[in-house]
Amino acid sequence: TRLTRADLDGLPAYVPGRNLADLTRELGIAEAVKLASNEVPYGPLPGVAEAVSEAVLSSHRYPDMGAVELREALAARLGVSADRIVTGCGSVALAEILVKATALPGDEIVYAWRSFEAYPIISAGVGATSVRVPNTPGHAHDLDAMAEAITDRTRLVFVCNPNNPTGSAIRKAELDRFLAAVPSDVLVVLDEAYRELVTDPDVPDGVQTYADRPNVVVLRTMSKAWGLAGLRMGYLVAQPGEATAIRKVLTPFSTSIVAQAAALAALKQEDEVRRRCALVVAERERVTEALRKLAIDVPSSQANFVWLPLGDRSAAFGQACESRGVIVRPFQTDGVRVTIGTPEENDLFLAAAEAALEG
Ligand code: PMP
Repeated sequence: TRLTRADLDGLPAYVPGRNLADLTRELGIAEAVKLASNEVPYGPLPGVAEAVSEAVLSSHRYPDMGAVELREALAARLGVSADRIVTGCGSVALAEILVKATALPGDEIVYAWRSFEAYPIISAGVGATSVRVPNTPGHAHDLDAMAEAITDRTRLVFVCNPNNPTGSAIRKAELDRFLAAVPSDVLVVLDEAYRELVTDPDVPDGVQTYADRPNVVVLRTMSKAWGLAGLRMGYLVAQPGEATAIRKVLTPFSTSIVAQAAALAALKQEDEVRRRCALVVAERERVTEALRKLAIDVPSSQANFVWLPLGDRSAAFGQACESRGVIVRPFQTDGVRVTIGTPEENDLFLAAAEAALEG
């Protein structure tokens, strides 16, 4: 007898980057390098480990379900009221909850492709139909085509800015025009997981620029710039009424005691976050230039990774890097995404890339 839904069989699994310890062991080298999951490489922020140790002492108790103190700290930082913020077990869980809160089986979810690989999985999870709009030849969202793809069945559009995995970002004029074209009963989710790495002043901050629009929700994470990937803390900014509805479908207690304490400690380290992001950005530009010198047509990135549009060569390139101790993320026949690490890690990657292209 089958217990799970038959339609889940065709669903692609979320493939995490290869395990670092496994590869290190397999190659018998001192240390392999993982540049596959878009983490910032500088360890937990000062004060986070201490806050976690202290929070663990209360771990026999449930967390504050409303994450009140944390939401107030986020609200103060973002300049919005705390009743507009919802926290969750990573922003991916909140993306899932937004789909759950808006779509029923047969409804449509529109997003660019390639984009974040969780969108198809999340959409299929509620039986919604994915409408994938191909990126432009320059690897950016085709927002005009995305607006055209909206039908009466569309409930939600994901706009990933900057886009994972291509790194491209949408500028304000273009996003303004898109939002004006979207019907008011379609929710636009601005997924800004990499917002802290954006340096182009024309790329708008969704919270500052669009969060007052009734059909916009901005999704953020503390996994990347804030260094909390392993503790799982994401948040969203919505209208108060929408936030209340979204909380109803949230898994209860999904922001743990430890995640709340760590996020509160991390938020006190904004200067250090800025410093780290600046290091990553400088390296992003250096790696981009170096790859272009190797004749790879790398699009400009506004995130902490770069996209190598290698087409059919992607899997072989990924394998070749791995055999040299560097884990990257190939995406089938499209390209390879490489996270920006420390300067030393990036040098190892660039050496591996050069060898891979020769071999
Ligand atoms: N959105 C985008 C665009 C991402 O790249 C990621 C992480 N890869 C997420 C959301 C989810 O991050 P998290 O669940 O760790 O907050």
